Amino acid sequence: MKMEKDKSRHRKSLLRSVTVGLRTPIMILLVLFGMVPMLVGTQVVISSARQNQIDSRMSEVQTHCRMLSARMTRARYLAADVTDASLDREIETVADVYNGRIVIVNSGYRIVKDTFHISENRFLVAEEILRCFQGENSSRYHADKNYFAQTFPIYNNAESQDIDGVLLITASTEGILSVFERVGDKVLLLEVLALLLLIVCAALAARVMVNPFWHFQKKLDQVAAGALDTDLTADIYQETRNISRSVEKTIGQLREVDQSRQEFVSNVSHELKTPITSIRVLADSLMSMEEAPVDLYREFMEDISVEIDRESKIIDDLLTLVKMDKSEAILNITQVNVNLLVEQTLKRLRPLADKRHVELIYESIREVTADIDEMKISLAVSNIVENATKYNVEGGWVRVTVDADHKFFYVKVADSGIGIPEEEQGRIFERFYRVDKARSRETGGTGLGLSITRNVVLMHRGAIKLSSQEGEGSVFTLRIPLNYIAQEGERR
Ligand code: ADP
Repeated sequence: MKMEKDKSRHRKSLLRSVTVGLRTPIMILLVLFGMVPMLVGTQVVISSARQNQIDSRMSEVQTHCRMLSARMTRARYLAADVTDASLDREIETVADVYNGRIVIVNSGYRIVKDTFHISENRFLVAEEILRCFQGENSSRYHADKNYFAQTFPIYNNAESQDIDGVLLITASTEGILSVFERVGDKVLLLEVLALLLLIVCAALAARVMVNPFWHFQKKLDQVAAGALDTDLTADIYQETRNISRSVEKTIGQLREVDQSRQEFVSNVSHELKTPITSIRVLADSLMSMEEAPVDLYREFMEDISVEIDRESKIIDDLLTLVKMDKSEAILNITQVNVNLLVEQTLKRLRPLADKRHVELIYESIREVTADIDEMKISLAVSNIVENATKYNVEGGWVRVTVDADHKFFYVKVADSGIGIPEEEQGRIFERFYRVDKARSRETGGTGLGLSITRNVVLMHRGAIKLSSQEGEGSVFTLRIPLNYIAQEGERR
């Protein structure tokens, strides 16, 4: 049982691994469409012509025999004591002409004449004979034995309707059939020639039909070899046009990805270089001074330390982003009290807010517990609140509100800060994008905070919304589902 299953699986996988070119099925279909009607047509024509021949032979025989029986009636063939030699000859002739046998049966069912001379004086009580005596002529074709039989009455005299005897003729149709057999042989030869011609034509047609795909494949090979600018237009068929459009779209997207990757790499290099350049400048100027005072040394070393912190923060943020970008980024989902999480985050940021004289207000509209990755959501909230504090005004405020409905929880961070110009609002989530580079640098920003936040939110299948007025302040709202639903095949 198991072996049979294995065998059938093996067969199926073998079938799956066999790839057939499009030309083969097209060719087979064309040959079939050409050949089947031709074969059926010739068969129908031949058999109907054969039937016609047989029918006309039967009607010819009928005419002859009817005349013969009429003559026999007139000559009173059966009543006469002496046989009519001329009639006998005619009977023989008719039988010979049609390659058949004529038997004359009298009213006593005795055979009085047999052109084969083998059954004379014997009795013949066949169904056709009986029926003919009752006035019913019969004409039957026996296709299986290739002959037909017809009966004709012989009357007592020309005026009466009394039947004295019956003329039975049986004639072979083999002559006709053999003619058609010969015709059939010739037709078969023609059919074979037509089949060969059809195969050649179908092969050519299939080639022409498949050609656009072949050309398209060549262009795709060029693209695969690196020629991304290759013109992929293939408008001959709707299918090739659709495929070429999809491929062009995919290539366009890949180009964009490639471009943004290059941009990212150049941004990363630039961002990493900035603190190093500062460190170098500081170190060089220290070295160029001959007898620098210790205080100056300390001051410069402090600046160098700040730049090192900055460099390490950029690297940390980059690593966080890269980890989250990986498709198999892991979320450590647990049930978390969101109010507590936000409170603790704010507690950590309070010293920064105090330093900038910004009031941090926390408002909890309802108690919320949700299935989330605690560390990551805390990082996302922290980034937004930190921004609200950093890009604020002296003596400003930041209000953090936690709310929920039956599906989502919301963390709203509103500030009385500098706001974000409308045209910049769509871009601030991009990596390294900063509205005011100098201010961001001064506050120790890396330009990666909002990208990280957005990634965290998206990983939780949530959304982030921003509304801001330049000079008045901004409101960032995070909307996260209360229950995390992992997608199929996803690891947590
Ligand atoms: P950064 O490390 O520079 O803060 P982010 O990605 O966190 O980087 O923010 C990107 C930019 O968005 C910031 O440089 C800043 O210009 C702007 N921004 C973010 N949050 C606010 C806010 N609450 N008010 C005003 N501008 C903001």
